[in-house]
Amino acid sequence: MTGSPTSSDAARPVDEARIAELVDAALAAIAAAGTTAELKQARVAHAGDKSPLALANRAIGSMPPDQRKAVGRVVGQARGRVNQGLAARQAELEAAELEATLLAERADVTLPVELHPVGAMHPITALIDDMCDVFVAMGWEVAEGPEVEAEWLNFDALNFTPDHPARFLSDTLFVEPVDHHKLLRTQTSPVQMRAMLSRELPVYVVSPGKVYRADEYDATHLPVFHQLEGLAVDKGITMGHLKGTLDHLARSMFGDVRTRLRPHYFPFTEPSAEMDLECFVCHGESVGNPDRPCRTCRSEGWIEWGGCGVVNPRVLRAAGIDTSVYSGFAFGMGVDRTVMFRNNAPDLRDFVEGDVRFPRSLQGGAR
Ligand SMILES: [Zn+2]
Repeated sequence: MTGSPTSSDAARPVDEARIAELVDAALAAIAAAGTTAELKQARVAHAGDKSPLALANRAIGSMPPDQRKAVGRVVGQARGRVNQGLAARQAELEAAELEATLLAERADVTLPVELHPVGAMHPITALIDDMCDVFVAMGWEVAEGPEVEAEWLNFDALNFTPDHPARFLSDTLFVEPVDHHKLLRTQTSPVQMRAMLSRELPVYVVSPGKVYRADEYDATHLPVFHQLEGLAVDKGITMGHLKGTLDHLARSMFGDVRTRLRPHYFPFTEPSAEMDLECFVCHGESVGNPDRPCRTCRSEGWIEWGGCGVVNPRVLRAAGIDTSVYSGFAFGMGVDRTVMFRNNAPDLRDFVEGDVRFPRSLQGGAR
């Protein structure tokens, strides 16, 4: 550092020339300070309690009274100039240091970064959400139930006879000990029974969830899959309400398509029907038209979608409902199967094997 006062300087008598030298030395040291740390050293040396100017200021008290005023003014002005110089340099250095810090810490937001893949909602979850949205918009409730279910709720209450083949161990996964009559639910229908037992009438519920069957694991079968069922119980419910509801669901999911009902048998509905969806790709134009084959419906014009019917009065009575006043309809479809034909996913095993490329590969994409 330059311009530091020396002890021999401090011993010199106080006069104007001497004060001017001290000021010059101080201003030179201030100008030479390249950092706020160096300026701090210059401040201690030239304006601190032990600096020559401070000593000169203190020496005024012992001067003859006739000199005190003149010397006091000179020393006071000198100290004022040094303090101004310090303040100005302090501001300059702080600004420069801030700028240097900002430059050093600047982030270039245009630099390429390593992108981590973002997860996607599973296509089954996404479809269940979409289907439930259709019903919630109509004022229905979404109901859920346990996957380990009482045999009575899964079969007996739904009018399955004691010897119905669905109860065989070859079809149904019972929870040991078997004589406790607990099973992994084979359908989401027990949620409907729970809804009727626990809610006030009328009941409008849709119940999505996992179901279990003692099935092979291959491209078209999984031992665990997903269903979505709906149940409406109210006064004056007819097959017409069922058809209108299914057509509305079909149009909401697939655009301008219809549904078709074919007579069938289920224990829990009477009459019962299989439900077909008009092919949303070819709208039936591929039928008998080999020039325009349709992979989605295999050129049949219709896609099997699920089962439905008017709720069997025996089922309503099992839930304690007065069948002379109330009637209901119910329907159900496989969610996995719906993703298969809606998004052109050919192999059910892809749904459970956890490869993140699967949801991205689906037609229509994943959310
Ligand atoms: Zn088609």
